[in-house]
Amino acid sequence: MQEYIKPIYACDDHIDMAIDDFLVENETFPVLSKAEEGTCSYCKKAAAYALNKSE
Ligand SMILES: [Zn+2]
Repeated sequence: MQEYIKPIYACDDHIDMAIDDFLVENETFPVLSKAEEGTCSYCKKAAAYALNKSE
């Protein structure tokens, strides 16, 4: 069974912060994709990117 990891959402202002946090937490670089939905994890703006863990 694979552990489900919730993607991190980030707006244009917080993408750098999101990548840093992702690196600390997962010790690997995230796979960035354009977010179609969701709000930034750091502010209340609409998310521009979703950070997912690569396989
Ligand atoms: Zn933000």
